[in-house]
Amino acid sequence: MGERSKKVEELRDHHLATVKDNMKLRELLWLHHGHSEALYGDDGEMQCNHPDCVIDFKRDSVEKIVERFNKARYRRMVEFIRTEGVGNMRQKIEEGEEMSKANKAKGGK
Ligand SMILES: [Zn+2]
Repeated sequence: MGERSKKVEELRDHHLATVKDNMKLRELLWLHHGHSEALYGDDGEMQCNHPDCVIDFKRDSVEKIVERFNKARYRRMVEFIRTEGVGNMRQKIEEGEEMSKANKAKGGK
């Protein structure tokens, strides 16, 4: 086999491995992004039908997935401020920080 076709083969193998990794990471994200009750996975599909999401984890671009996540986070924040007020939001954040400090002290994450 020539040097050039060896290089082409290496590139193809690398590309196939990257595509496979990408799909595995998409699957992990689909399974563990926090909407286990709204997942649809028949026939190899990886969709989330939660109203905050509506993402096709198999076909949507990474850019679109990030955008949907950001919009959902923004909506949750606005909703929280609307119902609880800004003061409570600061308190919640501080509680969260204290909780993660306590977990780190216990050796968790
Ligand atoms: Zn979701």
